Amino acid sequence: MLLLKRNMSIALLLLSVVGLSSSLPLSDVSSHEKCGYESCTKVNQDELNVHIVPHTHNDVGWLKTVDQYYYGSRNNIQKAGVQYILDSVIKELWQDPKRRFIYVETAFFWMWWVRQNDDVRHKVHALVRQGRLQFVGGAWSMNDEAASHYQSTIDQFTWGLKKLNDTFGPCATPRVGWQIDPFGHSREFASLLAAMGYDGLFLGRIDYQDKRARLKQKRMEMLWRGDDDLGNSSDIFTGALYNTYSPPPGFCFDVLCDDEPIIDDPNSPMFNVDKRVTSFVRKILEMSRAYRTNNILVTMGDDFQYQQADMWYTNLDKLIKYTNLKSAKEGLNIKLFYSTPDCYLKAVKDSNPVLPTKQDDFFPYASDPTAYWTGYFTSRPTTKYFERQGNDYLQMLKQLQVLGGLEEHNSFVLNELKSAMGVMQHHDAITGTEKQHVAHDYERLLDAAVEDALIIARQAFNKIAQKDALKQPLFSYDRCRFNESSCPTSENSRQFVVTIYNPVGWMVMEPIHVPVLDGTYEVYAPNGEKITSQLLDIPEPVRNIPTRKSQASHELVFIAKLHPLGVKSFYIKKISKISKRDVVNTNEYYGNINDYWKNLHENFVEIHNLEENGRDEIKKEKIPLPIMKIDTKVNIEKDINADILKDRYDNVDVEELERIIKETKLETVSKARSLDKKLNYPNLNEEELRMLADEAMLVERADEDYLENEFMKIRIDNTGVTHMILPDRTTNLKVQLHYWTGCYGNNTNTSLRSSGAYIFRPQTTVPYALTYRNSGTIKGPIVQEYRAETKENAASVLRIYSGLNYFVHDFVVGPIPIEDKIGKEYIVRYDTNIVNNGEFYTDSNGRQMLKRKLNERPQWNLTLEEPIAGNYYPVTNKISIQDDKTKISILTDRSEGGTSLEEGNIELMLHRRLLHDDAFGVGEALDEVAEGKGLVMRGRHKLLNINPNNAREVISERKLVIQTHLQPIAFVSNADDINFDAWMKLDNCFKGMKALPDGLHLLTLEPWTRDTLLLRIENYIDKSNDSTIEIDLSKVFNSFKIVSIKETTLAANQWLGDVEKWRWRVENEFAESFNLEYNNFNSVPRASSDAGTVIDDGLKIQVRAKQIRTFIAKYEMNAL
Ligand SMILES: [Zn+2]
Repeated sequence: MLLLKRNMSIALLLLSVVGLSSSLPLSDVSSHEKCGYESCTKVNQDELNVHIVPHTHNDVGWLKTVDQYYYGSRNNIQKAGVQYILDSVIKELWQDPKRRFIYVETAFFWMWWVRQNDDVRHKVHALVRQGRLQFVGGAWSMNDEAASHYQSTIDQFTWGLKKLNDTFGPCATPRVGWQIDPFGHSREFASLLAAMGYDGLFLGRIDYQDKRARLKQKRMEMLWRGDDDLGNSSDIFTGALYNTYSPPPGFCFDVLCDDEPIIDDPNSPMFNVDKRVTSFVRKILEMSRAYRTNNILVTMGDDFQYQQADMWYTNLDKLIKYTNLKSAKEGLNIKLFYSTPDCYLKAVKDSNPVLPTKQDDFFPYASDPTAYWTGYFTSRPTTKYFERQGNDYLQMLKQLQVLGGLEEHNSFVLNELKSAMGVMQHHDAITGTEKQHVAHDYERLLDAAVEDALIIARQAFNKIAQKDALKQPLFSYDRCRFNESSCPTSENSRQFVVTIYNPVGWMVMEPIHVPVLDGTYEVYAPNGEKITSQLLDIPEPVRNIPTRKSQASHELVFIAKLHPLGVKSFYIKKISKISKRDVVNTNEYYGNINDYWKNLHENFVEIHNLEENGRDEIKKEKIPLPIMKIDTKVNIEKDINADILKDRYDNVDVEELERIIKETKLETVSKARSLDKKLNYPNLNEEELRMLADEAMLVERADEDYLENEFMKIRIDNTGVTHMILPDRTTNLKVQLHYWTGCYGNNTNTSLRSSGAYIFRPQTTVPYALTYRNSGTIKGPIVQEYRAETKENAASVLRIYSGLNYFVHDFVVGPIPIEDKIGKEYIVRYDTNIVNNGEFYTDSNGRQMLKRKLNERPQWNLTLEEPIAGNYYPVTNKISIQDDKTKISILTDRSEGGTSLEEGNIELMLHRRLLHDDAFGVGEALDEVAEGKGLVMRGRHKLLNINPNNAREVISERKLVIQTHLQPIAFVSNADDINFDAWMKLDNCFKGMKALPDGLHLLTLEPWTRDTLLLRIENYIDKSNDSTIEIDLSKVFNSFKIVSIKETTLAANQWLGDVEKWRWRVENEFAESFNLEYNNFNSVPRASSDAGTVIDDGLKIQVRAKQIRTFIAKYEMNAL
């Protein structure tokens, strides 16, 4: 295994020597050869130009793994071998200069390229220089557009395009996006492509109703505005392809197809030229009626076609020749020729059409009335989470490589991780629409890449701690499975160090949960100060996760304050064996919240006593120690131990108890709730008040429980409704888990469609509400939480943290029961009293928000046969509803499907287990199993309640979205051999940069060439008067200094100044804001033609609203 790794590294080393490896955008090498638009066949706009585009669609994993597809192994699953495709196509291209081919997925191209000899490479170079082989898309994979996050999309484009640029120079620069198979299209992706300098975008799959209308109205091609704040700089020509991406029916000449070849020997009894050409002409004339110019693009290829490319080219040569002959003879005014999407786009541009516009997106995608491709927004939730973690690791490691000034050879492992993340973006990877064995292979690939690349973090942490990279590392910096509350290092150490990295450019307060055994622990900050911590028992549903291999019974929780790009270490000591006090179960479960109180009533205060005997009697009541609900494991000096207050008759001295409660409370408050006064809540909680009650009315509140911190008070009543009380308003909130049961049928017609990996199709219009079985509350100085379990294998923890303004829903779902032979799709519903009028907002790839309206589409009249699935939208990071005063946002830790079906409601799909295939190719039911049981997933939602009119709260919400995506990453090291004093001598607190001003985000910091780095600064706020933000890049970073910058396009493969934006004529000017107008564009404010410019002064740059600026920067290291 190790040997294999080493060989791979050597292979990578060799590869990097092969290309031109300048890593900077190259200037054009001019010669008599022509590539790009210059190489296109001249068109005559007076005749119908039929662009014959040979292509292959190579999924970077789907029914087979990446390697199986490349080598053509397991052909019993699918006859597909990418190496044969490229071998064969290059030979065929070389034979005839008229022939063209396009290639899309750089992951596969690169696998092939590094295995070729010089002769083949020279030929490929020539083909690229002459525009005969053109790259379209050109990212590592053809990414999904629903579940993918914009940061990872930008990264995988940067990675793929860098390979092309380093190897071939500008002739390999793709000019068009080629998203022919993703299942719906996002607006943010259009915006990103425009910022990368692409001139156009081609789509294969759009909703069948949308397509029908567009075909009829010649609206297949349009100008799509990617972002209202960015304005015309985000516009991109977008064309929907006529046949998705297949050839016209009857004209598939691949070895995988059965269509008749063109037989042109007139002496043969099988001669068919006339018949075939006539049929083809009929088809292209029909196609041309749907497009506005005298050009049509005919896709000639399909999944993994061209393994035997001569079959295609031989027949296409004939098709072109005889159709053109017929046209000349009969005056048809039709001309066929080999072409590419670039050349087609150029021809369309030259004919200067007037285009319709678009400002929304292409979600959700339906291919027929019962096939809404909205299940994949959630399919394989654990893969989707792992992908997000992969990005978090990648960003951290890129940053640490630069911040730590580490050795250049680390780029091998960094590149391995970039490749793995590029693969994960593929439209059958992050989507969860691959076969099970392929899903396992993706996990293997990403896990190995992360593990290998973590050497960078370990080197950087060691260098920071000891101020010397060459010193023997003191710590192991182990990766833990925090998502399963499992960490062997912390579980098995008496002393350990938790090292945390913050990958965002501002100070972050992050709750850290470290899995431990029961005991008493002390947590020390880098300055040696003991900080407040709390020991929480791990809920049963988490402990029972089948894949969990851990002895940990508790989590040690503390809040870490982390500096921008900061590394911080905390020293943790287990100070004693389990004391008697610790054995007290603080988390007894009760049948439900009412049972909990009933239990208290029995032993505690009986109401008639209160009424009859008055306050004096209270002291004589038996008190059942509700005090233990104040977490007795509070690690502050004066823990309350009610046992010591009991007299020998087991009665409690209430006065003494009162005094201690007050004292403790004050201390807790002063430590953890500095802002407590803000809400003017009494210092005692209700239980304590009730215990000391001298008024009968207080007892009436016994049917409630609540959580509170300085920002909010969460009151849970006996109907399960939560009242979220903020200083200026109260929002009702009910959190309830449900499931949908999936339709199943044999898929032979639309009414027999099954819910599957792609398709969501519930059987009913009302979901089944899970039955809550037991619940309990836990309160401590850091965490207060309410726990609830259901009978149907799902559990919730609703949690607030001291000092943090959001509310966490931590859930465990699975194994989803299928004993009834019915597949189920688990959801959570957040029901509020917000009046949202059927409107809600979902994010586009984690960035801009798009308005959605129930049962509506902005650009066509919707007929909806699937009222649930047809209202689902991708939620990459965030979904929200709002009214005038209140905006509720749910931030997700991975991509999920979401909607708002009822007034005030937000619904998110968490997990799916289905027993039937949906007949879109996978051929397997989405029935994930681990350790012999249905897969269990654990996830988190953050719920934020803000005032949408308060700019400060809006910004803090945006920051939380970024922090949720780029979570601080914790590592745990055994410190049994390093005592506290020795640890104190290390550098345990590192600040990578100064905090960025509000509005700016450090999107990318990564090594580029020997003395340059890649830097992206993003403005994340919406356009307003003061939304342009200035920053001096020479003063931002601590461990190095930027000395010069040069701006590039978003994917860093072209200098920004070299790119010229195409202008198009449009039917209607764009509205200023899609979200404000939605579908009412007739007399609305029009966007100004210019979205504004920025003025830089050397390294002092300005970034306007929603802009991402990308620079290649020269820099010098400072001493660490
Ligand atoms: Zn595909």
